[in-house]
Amino acid sequence: MRQLSLLVIILSCQLGFTQEKTPNIILMIGDGMGLTQISSGMYANNNSTALEGFEFIGLSKTYASNQLITDSAASGTAMATGVKTYNGAIGIDPQKRPQKSILQYCQEKGYSTALLATSSIVHATPASFYAHVKSRNQYEDIALQLSEDRVDLFIGGGRKHFNKRKDKRDLIQEMTSYEFVNSLKQLKSSDAQKIGYLTYSDEPPKKLEGRKPALEDMAVASIEKMESLGKPFFMMIEGSQIDWGGHANEMQYVLTEFKEFNTTIARVLEYAKADGNTLVIVTADHETGGLALTGGNLKKSLARGSFNTEGHTATMVPVFSYGPTAKAFSGIYENTAIFNKMLETLTK
Ligand SMILES: [Zn+2]
Repeated sequence: MRQLSLLVIILSCQLGFTQEKTPNIILMIGDGMGLTQISSGMYANNNSTALEGFEFIGLSKTYASNQLITDSAASGTAMATGVKTYNGAIGIDPQKRPQKSILQYCQEKGYSTALLATSSIVHATPASFYAHVKSRNQYEDIALQLSEDRVDLFIGGGRKHFNKRKDKRDLIQEMTSYEFVNSLKQLKSSDAQKIGYLTYSDEPPKKLEGRKPALEDMAVASIEKMESLGKPFFMMIEGSQIDWGGHANEMQYVLTEFKEFNTTIARVLEYAKADGNTLVIVTADHETGGLALTGGNLKKSLARGSFNTEGHTATMVPVFSYGPTAKAFSGIYENTAIFNKMLETLTK
């Protein structure tokens, strides 16, 4: 009888746990990915995008605390910490006070965490999730903060900010709790709890110039790694160079970067649909280039664009969501609300 009641207690605990398990959160940021970048990428891809598989769509107001047109640091900080700040600021408010990020809230909740980017890992968008510095250009300070055990898995460029520093420190040597790998194959076969994969010494090249590994392969390998840790996870995946194509006013650059990001979205959505307890959010930090879609041909999968600026613009950007609490992301709201909605997902 006593054994039976013990069994009942164990079973009900397990049932309770299943019901209360907080979802994985995968936040995907297409840097500079406005609606025209998406439309162009879709028409250039046989009139199809993985974004059509999402359940809810919202619009986000991207402006910074001090300017109508945001940069990636202020917008990244807004989404990561829920605070509008000045252009150039990473993880701090306008009074330069450090703000706790959604990644840190997730860690407190027992989540595993991962950051993936096709820029360097110390670039503004990924940095907003773990660093607190006055200027996005403090790459070595940002690398130092990442070295303080802040993320379980990270993949991106920028190795030189870790091992060719002004202070002569070699953070890769110092980060003894991490295993550093040089390929996704090594990453997959590693059983380390914390893994770093610094893909390039500097900023990674364009996809057009053969950047490797493919973002979709990085995402699939990272999701497998996160699953193997047996806890819910938070992952931020950035398609970093859609923005750089916009700055360069090069349509082909934008389209090829979007295409890789789109394939990655498809893989992530596939996983989320099979898993059933993963919230996926796809958005942008701002639009870049003032891109207008001025011509093309559906049958030939051609999209022609015209750029208005070599900088960013203040147009609202779309937010696509799928999974538990996805509905909360419909409507029109400030970019800071993306943080709040993710935080609410943790406490539901
Ligand atoms: Zn930019």
